[in-house]
Amino acid sequence: MKYKRREISNFQTQACFDQFICNNCGYLVVPEGAGSSHRNHCSQCLSSKHVDHLPGDRASKCSGIMEAIGVWVRKNGEWAIIHRCSRCGHISANRIAADDNPIKLMSLALQPLARPPFPLNDLGHLEGGVQHE
Ligand SMILES: [Zn+2]
Ligand SMILES: [Zn+2]
Repeated sequence: MKYKRREISNFQTQACFDQFICNNCGYLVVPEGAGSSHRNHCSQCLSSKHVDHLPGDRASKCSGIMEAIGVWVRKNGEWAIIHRCSRCGHISANRIAADDNPIKLMSLALQPLARPPFPLNDLGHLEGGVQHE
């Protein structure tokens, strides 16, 4: 008999394998392509839902949309998405999944560089001007 993970009755484990409709963009998120058991955010818009105090515990009653606000690189080089709850401000870091939209991830990571808080020309002055060869 083939063992199916979906039949595990433990609610905490089962929730990780559920597919869900993203509250933010409406995409049907399926767990199959994630490459891990921690499919907790939308692979298209990277948004999540505030259901956990700690990853996977489903202890929060907030249910606000967790907006992806940045990328954090762990010491081992693994990327994590920083999520911030649009309702209560809770912040958490979540491992990226294998099928996360790479363009979305890159634009998230590059956002601070794309929108510097000062004119980029000022960097040239710091470096003694742009070098022309
Ligand atoms: Zn989404
Ligand atoms: Zn929240």
